[in-house]
Amino acid sequence: MRRKIAAGNWKMNGLQQDLAELAAMASTLPERPPQVIICPPTPLLVSAVHQAGPIAIGAQDCHIEQNGAFTGDVSAVMIADTGARFVILGHSERRAGHGETSAEVRAKVAAALGAGLDPIICIGETLETREAGETLSLIKDQLVQSLADTLDPTRAILAYEPVWAIGTGKVASPAEIGEVHDFIRATLSDIYTPEAAQTIPLLYGGSVKADNAKSIFATENVDGALVGGASLKASDFTPIIKALAHSTG
Ligand code: PEP
Repeated sequence: MRRKIAAGNWKMNGLQQDLAELAAMASTLPERPPQVIICPPTPLLVSAVHQAGPIAIGAQDCHIEQNGAFTGDVSAVMIADTGARFVILGHSERRAGHGETSAEVRAKVAAALGAGLDPIICIGETLETREAGETLSLIKDQLVQSLADTLDPTRAILAYEPVWAIGTGKVASPAEIGEVHDFIRATLSDIYTPEAAQTIPLLYGGSVKADNAKSIFATENVDGALVGGASLKASDFTPIIKALAHSTG
C-alpha cells in the first residue's frame, strides 16, 4: 500500500501566532492518519518544527547551492538544519513568477536530496496548454526534466497541480485528474521500474476543499493532496485529512 499524504502549502501566509493551527490539526488527527506535512514560510520553520508534534514540516523552495553569495536565498542544508524534512520544488508560482525551469527544479531536487530532504515535486499545465491538447506531453517533459538522476523513488513525492486550478476555485474533474495521474504513473514506470513507480505517492493540488476531497481521493492513482488555501486553518484542513484517511482509492 502506498503512503497517503496530506500536504499543506501556506505560501506567503502565516505569522508566529498562526502556528497554533498545527496543534489544532494534531489534536484532531483521525485514527491511522495519513502523513500530514505543513510547509510554512521560511521564517516560521524553526518554530513550526518545535510545535508540530506528529505533523512533518517542509519548506517551499530551496537554492541549488549549499551556501554563498545568494542574497535572500535559503539552501536545502539550512532547511534541513531547522529540522524540516520536506521541500516543495517546482511549484507553478515559482515556475511562473520566478522563471524557474525544469532544469533548475532538477538541480534543486538534487540539492534537497543531498541535504536529506524529501522533495515534493510539482508539475502541471496551464489552461492554454490544456486547451491546445498538449497536457500530457507537457507533463511528460516536466516530469522527465525535473527528476534528478540521484532521486531514489522511495524518497520521491509528485504533485500534479494544473495551474488553472490553483487558487481559482476551479477543480479538475476526477476524470481529468485520473487521466493525468495514470499517465504520470506509467511514465514513472518507464523511468524507474513498474514496481518502484507503484511506491511513489502522487498528490493532486488545485482548489482542494472539504467538499471535493472525497471524490478526488476516490480517483485511482491519487494518493493525497497538496493544498494551499484550505491548509491554513485546522477547521478547513482537518476534514481533508479525514477524507484521505477514509479513502480507499
Ligand atoms: C497550491 O498552492 O499548491 C494549491 C494547490 O493552492 P490551492 O489549494 O489554494 O488551490
